[in-house]
Amino acid sequence: MKSLLIHVCLIWLALTPEILAFIPLFRLGSSSGNIPSNPSKQSASTVKSSVQAQSPIDISNYVEKTCSAITYKLNYNNETTARFENAGHTVKVIMDGPDDEKPIISGGPLTGEYIMQEVHFHWGKNDSEGSEHTINGNRYPLEAHAVHYNTKYKNFQVASNYTDGLSVIGIVFDILPYRNSDFTEYENIMIDPLTSRLKDIPTNTSKLEDTAEELLKWFSPFVAKDHYFTYKGSLTTSPYSEVVTWIVYNAVIPLSEHQVEVFRKLKNPDGKCTKEHFRHVQPLNGRCVFYCSPNAETRCDHST
Ligand SMILES: [Zn+2]
Repeated sequence: MKSLLIHVCLIWLALTPEILAFIPLFRLGSSSGNIPSNPSKQSASTVKSSVQAQSPIDISNYVEKTCSAITYKLNYNNETTARFENAGHTVKVIMDGPDDEKPIISGGPLTGEYIMQEVHFHWGKNDSEGSEHTINGNRYPLEAHAVHYNTKYKNFQVASNYTDGLSVIGIVFDILPYRNSDFTEYENIMIDPLTSRLKDIPTNTSKLEDTAEELLKWFSPFVAKDHYFTYKGSLTTSPYSEVVTWIVYNAVIPLSEHQVEVFRKLKNPDGKCTKEHFRHVQPLNGRCVFYCSPNAETRCDHST
């Protein structure tokens, strides 16, 4: 972890905050073990009650794979509104408008198009925990999940019953020891429109409307990214259905301590602060995690 931070900091100090909306984690090395089936080749079927392919996981053993970038159609315009809601144990950005104004993803391990249902967050009681996925055992203070459902199904609820029903983009955030030139704490200006409005939805079910462009400003830079991890897993909250094609970016979005702390002040249905909201990592049970890039050194398309 120390070498990661040093590496990141060197990049960090050379760049301005405006272009530091996100930064890549450096290559994590590769490893391979027993390779089960390619997740993209599994056929769709209705989900059965199972605890064999649960999420989140620790991402430390994975196989490099040549595959295309995820294609994003953000679709919303500068007037499209989104709902920002305290959902009791997390906060959600929900696209309420017509389907043709919602982001759509395709490509990579996905067959067909997946439409955005919501974006929500996971955090911990202190800065040493909070992310659901860990990378090489490293946990981060915040993780965002952009939940999408397969457009071949009528809606999110129906899609949740099929093994190819959902795809979730996972993005981790980290607090890095960076200061502005005047030595004030660094604040990520891309996520500030979201974090600065958390105080306006303090209690369960409180909500507001803002433009999708503002609330998802921090998300947009990922449109062009073509390095990511992918595996087949589950929802990380009840009913834990094993219907998710996970896409976890090997990048970390920097933000300030304060920008994480505001999540912990949100009230749950009992009127108490939601100090933490994350599930611990689950066993792989022989699943393969792929590290996708346009020109991977090793292919595993032949895996069986
Ligand atoms: Zn989640």
